[in-house]
This record gives sequence, structure tokens and C-alpha cells, in this order.
Amino acid sequence: MNYEDLTRLAEAAGFTAWGRLDAGTLEVKPEVRDMCAVNSCGVYNKVWSCPPGCGELEECSARLKKYGGGILVQTTGDIEDSFDFEGIMDIEADHKDHFTKMYAELRKAGVDVLALGAGCCRQCKTCTYPDAPCRFPEQMVSSMEAYGLVVLEVCKANDLQYYYGPNTMTYTSCFLI
Ligand code: SF4
Repeated sequence: MNYEDLTRLAEAAGFTAWGRLDAGTLEVKPEVRDMCAVNSCGVYNKVWSCPPGCGELEECSARLKKYGGGILVQTTGDIEDSFDFEGIMDIEADHKDHFTKMYAELRKAGVDVLALGAGCCRQCKTCTYPDAPCRFPEQMVSSMEAYGLVVLEVCKANDLQYYYGPNTMTYTSCFLI
């Protein structure tokens, strides 16, 4: 599967923007892990997809290095203002929907893909972490941040816009193949 195929899938899935991803630009950063550990999202040490369940930073880095490149995908939408939580959640839900669709298509095509999403895995009502193995390891998705990536920097390094103006919200994910 080449980049043009990926762009077709991204468009069909409903993403609003995308860009070529050069895996050589991906730098895992311990400070991103430190931010995860603050646990402002409430899922640190709660699910297999997030630190520390998703593995040490070195393991994540080694997984990233198996891939040459791929595609960054985004969903941008309008919000009334920065307190429009309903609007923000709607855009997040749309992004997850687009992401799930494209990931399913890539798996159906038999592509060896590392999918990094936005936010933690929500496949199960309650994660098995840490008592039992993940129920659906082939569908579990970690976030770009869980892998120590700064999304803004990744977008910049790959010439993809990150901010689309006031009263907009953008979610970014990627597929490495
Ligand atoms: S698929 Fe289920 S068990 Fe696995 S990480 Fe996601 S929520 Fe947890």
C-alpha cells in the first residue's frame, strides 16, 4: 500500500486533513511520559494502551523504528468557544469514528500497521489492566502521546498544519506502515 492508497482511505473514512508521515521525524520524549504521569486524564496506569501498560519508552521507540512512514490524519471541526465541551466531544467522537473505519480497512487489507490514536483505548467498558491480558490486542490503540510523541512537533516536522484558527478543534492521529 502506498501513500496515495492511504490518502484515499483517509478521505473515505471522513478525515478532514492528512499528510505524509516520515517515521524518521518521530522522536520519543521522556517529558511527554512525565506529563502522562501527572494523570490529568485519569487513565494513567489504568489501561493497557496507556503508560505504563503500553511499555517502556524504549519499547515504544523500538516499535516505531520498525516502520518507514505512513500518514497523519486529522479531524477538525468548529466550536462555539473553548468552553464548548459538547462541541469538542462531538469532534473527538467523529475523529474516533474516522480512525476506527480506516484502521479496520487497513487490517482488512492485511497491512502491517501501527495505529496511534488520540486518547486512550475505549474498546471495553472496563479494561482488564493490570489483572489479565488485553482482551483485544489487535484492536487496542495507544495514543501518540503514550508513545512519547509531541503531536505539534510531529505535525510541524511533516509540514502538516496543527492549528486551524480560533473556535476550531483538531484531533490528530497516525498510521505507520
Ligand atoms: S481492548 Fe479492552 S482490555 Fe485491551 S486495552 Fe482496550 S480497554 Fe483494555
